[in-house]
Amino acid sequence: MGSLEENAPAGLGQGIETVGGTLREEIPVATAEYVRNPMKDATNNSKLNGRMVVTSSPPPTSSPVPIVQTENSMELSLKKRKSIPLPLEVGTRLLCKWRDGKLHPVKVIERRKLPTGPDDYQYYVHYSEFNRRLDEWVKLEQLELESVEADADEKVEDKGGGLKMTRHQKRKIEETHAEEGHEDFDAASLREHEEFTKVKNISKIELGKYEIDTWYFSPFPPEYSDCNKLFFCEFCLSFMKRKEQLARHMRKCDLKYPPGDEIYRQGSLSMFEVDGKKNKIYGQNLCYLAKLFLDHKTLYYDVDLFLFYILCECDERGCHMVGYFSKEKHSEEGYNLACILTLPPYQRKGYGKFLIAFSYELSKKEGKVGTPERPLSDLGLLSYRGYWTRVLLDILKKHRGNVSIKELSDMTAIKTEDVISTLQSLELIQYRKGQHVICGDPKLLERHLKAAGRGGLEVDASKLIWTPYKEQGG
Ligand SMILES: [Zn+2]
Repeated sequence: MGSLEENAPAGLGQGIETVGGTLREEIPVATAEYVRNPMKDATNNSKLNGRMVVTSSPPPTSSPVPIVQTENSMELSLKKRKSIPLPLEVGTRLLCKWRDGKLHPVKVIERRKLPTGPDDYQYYVHYSEFNRRLDEWVKLEQLELESVEADADEKVEDKGGGLKMTRHQKRKIEETHAEEGHEDFDAASLREHEEFTKVKNISKIELGKYEIDTWYFSPFPPEYSDCNKLFFCEFCLSFMKRKEQLARHMRKCDLKYPPGDEIYRQGSLSMFEVDGKKNKIYGQNLCYLAKLFLDHKTLYYDVDLFLFYILCECDERGCHMVGYFSKEKHSEEGYNLACILTLPPYQRKGYGKFLIAFSYELSKKEGKVGTPERPLSDLGLLSYRGYWTRVLLDILKKHRGNVSIKELSDMTAIKTEDVISTLQSLELIQYRKGQHVICGDPKLLERHLKAAGRGGLEVDASKLIWTPYKEQGG
């Protein structure tokens, strides 16, 4: 990589010098990419044979007057006349036509060949203005080639080097991670970078009566990497490449609800507890499915260590999963929830809040305070903030006399740090003489409560039939 880096500017510079300051036709073609890369990948000549798109008319073949330019204006004129070699490099920044019909800045994250022709490519892009869940594959026609940023070439080099290092480092991190059971900030940010560069492989799934657009990458086994859509059995969560396979599976699959104990029933809603150790395949399938909708979560192959709480809407056909959360059987950090997800067709119905409330009901039964594992997704954090606000302010509103942070925490099973951060964000707490003092003006409480919205579905603790997890035979 280092040697290419050195050659690149020299190559471009020589190209200019040899024509004595006169811009010849071949110069726009001889972009840094071409000068630099003839040896880069001997097996892939697509760059050399590939199509070129010239985005502006070539400069005059000869000029009566020698062109005298400063370095800057020379660069500028080169950029203007620059032709864009295809396929585009990963790392290129340009504009792309989105579903609103407008052009938005994107970065090319990945590219892939299309079967339609040797030079036909599709590009996976990230819209810099949008959340990563809107990353998508686009066709060349959607991309505005005139808008390619001039310094993209260098970024490609950086990117290439950076990525290699990251993969290597990531492996190292995973090893350390496994040994030490924790990660430091650098590891977390590297992993984030790695995740950021990942391409959403599966763009749609079929689950029960829904076809759902996915949001994020999920590490399905390699044999599924060529699939655009996967078909899930909504009960055992097996996934298949083709609809006919699913139909055949559904005739044989005798599961009508998650493979665990029903621990809660309220009308047509049921909650099931599934032990990842007893139902390994189910737990793994659930993780693959969930990662399609969760940005930052590391996928846990080690499902043995987790319990999964599956919320279902039940009817005469069976119990249909609407969402779930997972929980470590033993959490040293005091986490009472690892991953939480409401499937997109069931969002905005209060199920997320229900799941959060449920996780705290379990903590109350355990006689412990709990907190969700970090980082939380953007949607997850919003839900938690709303939940904490409602629960804490409801108590503050009804409570007569003083109440301490510790008491609030004991009553709700919400960890004291979360109590404090929530009250701080609402400006209901002050730090006086070495301790936190809650100062709740009733009108202010009322206003915050209104802003937080209602909790929707309430958990009826009397309907929870559950005993905390105990290792069997131990
Ligand atoms: Zn099944």
